[in-house]
Amino acid sequence: MNAFSYVTAQTAGSAVELVRERGRFLAGGMDLLGEIKDGLAEPAVLVNVKALPGTREIVVAKDKVVIGANVTLATLAEHAEAKKLLPALAQAADAVGSPQMRNVGTVGGNLAQHSRCWYYRQRDVRCVKKGGSRCFARGGENKYHSLFTKNMCLSPCVSNLAVALSALDAAVVVQRGAKTVTLAIAQLYERAWSEPKAHHSLAADELILRVEVPVAAGARSAYVRIAEKNEFDWALVSCVAAGRIEGGKLRGVRVALGSVAPIPWQVKEANAALEGREPTAENAAKAAERLLKDAEPREQIGYKIPIAQALVKRAVTALAG
Ligand SMILES: Cc1cc2nc3c(=O)[nH]c(=O)nc-3n(C[C@H](O)[C@H](O)[C@H](O)COP(=O)(O)OP(=O)(O)OC[C@H]3O[C@@H](n4cnc5c(N)ncnc54)[C@H](O)[C@@H]3O)c2cc1C
Repeated sequence: MNAFSYVTAQTAGSAVELVRERGRFLAGGMDLLGEIKDGLAEPAVLVNVKALPGTREIVVAKDKVVIGANVTLATLAEHAEAKKLLPALAQAADAVGSPQMRNVGTVGGNLAQHSRCWYYRQRDVRCVKKGGSRCFARGGENKYHSLFTKNMCLSPCVSNLAVALSALDAAVVVQRGAKTVTLAIAQLYERAWSEPKAHHSLAADELILRVEVPVAAGARSAYVRIAEKNEFDWALVSCVAAGRIEGGKLRGVRVALGSVAPIPWQVKEANAALEGREPTAENAAKAAERLLKDAEPREQIGYKIPIAQALVKRAVTALAG
């Protein structure tokens, strides 16, 4: 491990300045410290961002919930109003890792976490995500990998919050240089869809400040997942459905799958197939068919398709209440 400096930033502007010299933002450290210990990251400076003002709060406004980047997953999972207004998000936070990890891991760190692919995490393997020329999961051990991707890397986005926030149509406010910009979740991950080295779309000096989640009257949502273990494990596949029920019919519904692509996976036609329909298993199955239409089930990944179909049914029917 290389020697590095450690600084605590007091403003977002200074955090961005400080990280420019081969630095990395440090929040809970659950992901980043593992990368440093495993020899995958060699920052010259760790910029602790947890002291940034206004980033550890959840604020409930009339039409949105604003969640600071340094809110812990445990705080989000246990927040009474978040649980009531955004159940899928609270459930997704509650499903991360273990209680100890949720006490430490943050919203920003969870969204910006790096690939968990076992080839990427092995220090001696120079895979395409580290600038090499091959994805070793292709033709190798790929049971935890993607059903969909546009680039050579098969590793999926496994952030629980990403899939929930995608279905909830959230926006992420990011410090970019001296300005702030607002990104949709699709924009936050779009680079990972086409560029094998990218985990998300943020440059090394772009800092997540907060997440803004719209809340409409009567909005409902549900997060479901299947994992090999109930605790301390990532989902094999997860699914979030979010929308409203008016007169027994679904309105404005979005369904997103997690752990099946380098981005939270949504398909417009699948959402459209549910519009104005009842939240039944039959209608959910039709949406799942559209969601999974372009899946490429490689050697060991095909088992994710029936799991995804089952989870779409569970999440959509859960909206019935
Ligand atoms: C055994 C195990 C099981 C896990 N299970 C799950 C799971 O089921 N679901 C799941 O979603 N995750 C899971 N995780 C991952 C874990 O949730 C994340 O590692 C954690 O949430 C990261 O948060 P952190 O605050 O510790 O991030 P850090 O480790 O501090 O940072 C992670 C990355 O984000 C960057 N970063 C941090 N804050 C910001 C910011 N504000 N703006 C921009 N970049 C930032 C850092 O530079 C780093 O690259 C698991 C991890 C382990 C080890």
